[in-house]
Amino acid sequence: MSTNSIGHVQLEFMTTGTVRIRPSMRSQPLSKIGLFRRIRSFLDREWTDPIPVGVFLIRHPEGLFLMDTGQSPRCNDAGYLPRGAFLSGLLTQFTIEHHDGILEQLHKRGIKATDLKAVILSHLHNDHAGGLEDLVVEAPDLPIYVSREHWKAFGEHPFFASIEGATPNHWPKNFSPMVFDFQDRPLGPWKQSFPVTEDGRIAIVDTSGHVPGHVSVVIYGNDGPEQAQVTYLLSGDATYALDLLDKEQPDGINDDPMRAFQTLQTINKFARETDVVVLPSHDTNTPRLLDERVVYKPSGRK
Ligand SMILES: [Zn+2]
Repeated sequence: MSTNSIGHVQLEFMTTGTVRIRPSMRSQPLSKIGLFRRIRSFLDREWTDPIPVGVFLIRHPEGLFLMDTGQSPRCNDAGYLPRGAFLSGLLTQFTIEHHDGILEQLHKRGIKATDLKAVILSHLHNDHAGGLEDLVVEAPDLPIYVSREHWKAFGEHPFFASIEGATPNHWPKNFSPMVFDFQDRPLGPWKQSFPVTEDGRIAIVDTSGHVPGHVSVVIYGNDGPEQAQVTYLLSGDATYALDLLDKEQPDGINDDPMRAFQTLQTINKFARETDVVVLPSHDTNTPRLLDERVVYKPSGRK
């Protein structure tokens, strides 16, 4: 990777351990409707191979940003999960060592949490917000972006959030993130977006469906060969993997498959119109897709 220098926007992928999930949770055809999708996921006795639990470090002239914080290295300790979360263990199996935690991984790179400009959370599920607890001990004033819709659904209803796979018992004390509203700034097929940096080279777009108010991050990087411009979409959990995005198959655990499906359609529209490297948080291919800057194009069945 080229070295960081002024004016450049660069991206790095880290995984906070790995997770195995149920194949039915990974995806189900849209024709499988409503509650049965979830029941099928809970009854599934199979596990997928281990997949990453991704965090992105974004180097921008305005500072360092994280997209998500990964899982906590303490997530398998007795009593870690909140009372409402008894179902989570049926769906996920995390493998994570102390040194896999986000804070440790930043320290290894010579970065302190106080060096971060902000954290952007795709959503508050425990495998995305699990690192917050450690980051905020080191950097109590760290700005954390959460979308308004997601904060209303999860942040203001911690018990509901814990049933849905969050760990509000480990959120920062008196957690008050930077709750943002989208602005009328079109970005590709999205009518609205939220610019995180003044130059708009890090921007947030709505990719709801996996959970209400789930967001993805668009990065206009210039870390390609000869510092060429590369556009990235950090898609969070809008899809677990590119083959599922291509098939427009929503995951099996969300509460709104139709909205998740529409989000996949929007991402595919973006990818048809723009050369974009799409990087899901849990795709085993994500490190390679990033290293080789593989432009994603939908196969064109639609
Ligand atoms: Zn996830």
